[in-house]
Amino acid sequence: MSIPYRHVEKITINQHPKAPGVRDLASRDGFLLILPKAAAKIDWQNLPHGEFLAQRAHKRHGAMSGTKDWETELPTAQGTRVLVVYAEASATPFDQLTAARGWAKQLLKTEPGSLSLYAAPGTDVSVVLEASLLALLAAVCPLPSRKSTAEPAARLQRIDCYGAKTKLRIDGIRAQTQGNHLARWLTLLPGNELRPAEYRRLATKLAKQQGWQASFLDRRALTRHQAGAFLAVTQASDADDGGILHLRYRPKKRDKHPKLALVGKGVCFDTGGINLKSAKSMFGMHEDMEGSAVALGSLLALSLLKVDFAIDCWLALAENHIGPQGYKPNDVITASNGTRIEIVHTDAEGRMVLADTLALAAREKPDLIIDYATLTGACVYALSTRYSGLFSNRDALLAPMTAAGRRSGERVWPFPLDADFDDMLKSDIADIKQCTIESEADHILAARFLKRFIPESCAWIHIDLSAGNHKGGLAHIPSDITGFGVGLTMQAVLEGTMLSVAAGNTDTESV
Ligand SMILES: [Zn+2]
Repeated sequence: MSIPYRHVEKITINQHPKAPGVRDLASRDGFLLILPKAAAKIDWQNLPHGEFLAQRAHKRHGAMSGTKDWETELPTAQGTRVLVVYAEASATPFDQLTAARGWAKQLLKTEPGSLSLYAAPGTDVSVVLEASLLALLAAVCPLPSRKSTAEPAARLQRIDCYGAKTKLRIDGIRAQTQGNHLARWLTLLPGNELRPAEYRRLATKLAKQQGWQASFLDRRALTRHQAGAFLAVTQASDADDGGILHLRYRPKKRDKHPKLALVGKGVCFDTGGINLKSAKSMFGMHEDMEGSAVALGSLLALSLLKVDFAIDCWLALAENHIGPQGYKPNDVITASNGTRIEIVHTDAEGRMVLADTLALAAREKPDLIIDYATLTGACVYALSTRYSGLFSNRDALLAPMTAAGRRSGERVWPFPLDADFDDMLKSDIADIKQCTIESEADHILAARFLKRFIPESCAWIHIDLSAGNHKGGLAHIPSDITGFGVGLTMQAVLEGTMLSVAAGNTDTESV
């Protein structure tokens, strides 16, 4: 099995500062014309086929033109389909990306091989063009399908963007698309195709292609590290294929110390363990590895952009099985940092595998650790599947991360992490309880639990991926599985102040 993450590399993307001429559109299959929302602002005369379009607009919507998207065929030899849409200049990035998802769906219905996009003056030109590119590329990425009749691959080969005077972030958009595609593709794979062994094989192959170093901590290595929390989860697996895959991106040979560590929960199937899930809750549990896929997708995107800092990526690969060897409520487990944990509920396995993975990641002394995990139902109750939960041991990181979420359209919202929540995790027999039976505020308790495995000197962000699966897609992503986190991470790390704030180890509310 090979990963089709390079799909968008085959699509040529050109940028032209001016409006397209009639000639430019003659041989295109489709044309997206993005106009300002107010009809009065539309300068039809300066648009290609302007007179024709003005007439059509008036005939269809009369005074209402400027509000509702519409479609027609241009009088070109090719019969170019044109989709006319109206963009609100004040729209949030999320709303803009959501609108672009609808445009992409409409444009791709007729399977075009080539498309032209033009954002007219009066629109937020670069923003709408970039949103359209993200949406189009996300929509044509092939996702796993196991139907006996395969769906044909999207035909799109070429996109021409018109109207932006400043340089569009085309390389960044391609990299984000590839990272997100990888995350969605892996998450969609059925559980019988992506067990820890196959996952490890695929990720190691990718590492080889991308020039990353890879090492795997199997059961023996984890026993040596006394990673009892991780091993408690995998002890019910007959296959003995669970473990931690450690990938290293090093832009320069002498880079030893990682600036950034990306950590992901990779539970390839979650039965709940001895505390077995109900049928309804278990359905879809092959997606419980999405956090690791997002960590890997983020690493891929940053590596494709050849960022100049070293990155570690840690994938906690396991299955939470049911079996006679499985860990049980009231067991007491010792994690790699010496913490003794009283088990309460075997379905809280995510925090168990992450605990040791985070502790190992922190030993390499990165400036910042970001972990991603489909961790708690409580986070979905709190935020729905539209937002993901944000936690940090540095208050100063909450504001820039929330802002990065807003700008990328992958929205996160901060939760408290005060020490007194630990009262709820007090154990009579061990240092801490794994969770509570009542599971009140479980997303906060899970974050408090994980925080114990990160030394105070290391800045840490935890993303509880409640938006990992949103029915009908989210922002520009058209599939239920969103791969949420890749865009957010890129925004935060590349354009935000995240890494400098983290490196400053400041705990003040200064951002
Ligand atoms: Zn679980």
